[in-house]
Amino acid sequence: MAQRFALRIDPVAADDSRDDFAHTLTPMDVAAPALSVGELSTQRGDGVFESIGVVDGHANEVEAHVQRLAHSARLCDLPAPNLTQWRLAVDAVSAHAPAGEAVIKLILSRGVEHGPAPTAWATVAAAPDFRAVREQGVRVVTLDRGYDLGAGERAPWLLLGAKTLSYAVNMAALREARRRGAEDAIFVTRDGYVLEAPTASLIIRRGEEFLTPAPSGGILHGTTQLSVFEHLESGGHATRYATLSATDLATADAAWLVSSIRLAVAITAVDGAPLASDRALTAELNEFLLSPR
Ligand code: PLP
Repeated sequence: MAQRFALRIDPVAADDSRDDFAHTLTPMDVAAPALSVGELSTQRGDGVFESIGVVDGHANEVEAHVQRLAHSARLCDLPAPNLTQWRLAVDAVSAHAPAGEAVIKLILSRGVEHGPAPTAWATVAAAPDFRAVREQGVRVVTLDRGYDLGAGERAPWLLLGAKTLSYAVNMAALREARRRGAEDAIFVTRDGYVLEAPTASLIIRRGEEFLTPAPSGGILHGTTQLSVFEHLESGGHATRYATLSATDLATADAAWLVSSIRLAVAITAVDGAPLASDRALTAELNEFLLSPR
């Protein structure tokens, strides 16, 4: 995914009430080296990020993403981002998005070791082509997360509810899923509850109701899941946050993984057992998710 355009952001204080921060955004040469070797984002994965879906230059759900960036920064004890400045950065990179589907990444790192300030940047690039997987769905395997449902609240230093740059574990889980003959994974707690996928939220349908694991200290609150629930509710469907067991997933009437760039994909099998999928509803959800929000 070649970067098309990037901006360096010189972070200003969250309580700086000016409304023009254009002078704090500097276009970067995307082909040139940009980070210091002392950068803590690369040395320790010490920072937070967001990936925002863009369709024909329109960035979707910007407010939910910048709010989650602020939430992740708070959990990581990073200086609070100035949201006016970050919204402006999103506007500025959106203007350089290629036609069709693209992805904006916002990155806020602790900066250079012993350095004075966080490092921040925003990029935009063409998104991978997910049309086939939206049609065909994914097979998932359940993978042990290694802790129980209460770990997120009991041990906030695990940063389970923050979107941190440390995604090596999530990528390892996807490789394990592929080794087991699936395309994606769902993390399950030691006490048998489903959480989320390495890069997506889980939604299941049981009877007439759509359910998703309650966002807690243990999982990210997905912006796409929020949008999908609003859409379903506007169509008269019932939605609810719930504590869901691995059996609830295996016996669901349908299930989806949802995320900002891949959007909605049906789960077609869990640990090798086929799951029914609702092609019409999946197509409707993706049509909605591709529209300006
Ligand atoms: N959960 C995890 C661990 C993720 O990495 C992501 C997105 O990357 C999501 C859930 C879905 O979040 P969103 O819908 O905001 O993209």
